[in-house]
Amino acid sequence: MARVVVIGGGLAGGAAALALAETGATVKLIEKRSRLGGRACSYLPPGWPHAVDNSQHVLLRCCTNLLDFYRRLGVADRVRWHDRVTLVADDRTSVFRAWPLPPPLHLAPALAALPGLSGGDRARLALAFTRLLLAGRRRESIFRSITFPLIAPALGTVALLRLVETFKILDIPFSMLGGGPGSATQTYSYYVYLTGLRSFNMGYASSLAYILVIIAMIISTIYFWRVRARFE
Ligand SMILES: Cc1cc2nc3c(=O)[nH]c(=O)nc-3n(C[C@H](O)[C@H](O)[C@H](O)COP(=O)(O)OP(=O)(O)OC[C@H]3O[C@@H](n4cnc5c(N)ncnc54)[C@H](O)[C@@H]3O)c2cc1C
Repeated sequence: MARVVVIGGGLAGGAAALALAETGATVKLIEKRSRLGGRACSYLPPGWPHAVDNSQHVLLRCCTNLLDFYRRLGVADRVRWHDRVTLVADDRTSVFRAWPLPPPLHLAPALAALPGLSGGDRARLALAFTRLLLAGRRRESIFRSITFPLIAPALGTVALLRLVETFKILDIPFSMLGGGPGSATQTYSYYVYLTGLRSFNMGYASSLAYILVIIAMIISTIYFWRVRARFE
């Protein structure tokens, strides 16, 4: 039978130890503190009548893995569920509760009434919920609505760098095929090189180089303007 030592009695260590024990392994869980739970804990300060909650502040019914962990530990019945939460922001209170609407719309009225949010915040929340709603329908829409918008800035940066690099690439077409066959692999900067340093038409080559800089500047400016508009 396998003998395993798990170091750290937080959620991760506890879950690992429990899963291993369920497979029949002999598990030793080592925790440096006097209590288990790690950051997901509450504690009783000296002279204080109530336990202070450190975490887990938010446990929702969609936290299925955590709920399953509590169930397997035999403590699921100790979770106290609330059907409404009172929130205070900007000296205003609001009651956060689910409405009898299909998810994720069930939280929309509560989010709309949240104090401390600007009109822009509410619009972004509405957009996020609409995307969640769409993403729930089809698998490919998860990619279109969530994954792609998240990686789009990184993709844009890479595409921009590659595009600028394509304009100035010279060494590979020069060394591989000399720009040929014919002029099929002749890039812009290779053409500038041929015009300036082979034909010695310096004025024309300088103009071409300036046009290249201007094209690169226009593309970069449009890209950074779009990125800035997206994050402001
Ligand atoms: C204030 C606060 C509020 C939070 N609110 C929420 C929330 O509402 N909802 C939510 O989902 N998450 C929340 N979190 C996050 C959540 O609590 C943590 O992500 C989770 O508890 C981390 O678990 P863990 O096992 O990875 O790490 P930890 O909980 O940090 O556990 C690591 C354990 O390893 C022990 N350890 C470290 N080194 C050693 C060693 N050398 N030998 C022995 N033991 C060692 C530590 O003492 C600790 O007990 C909150 C966190 C904090 C701090």
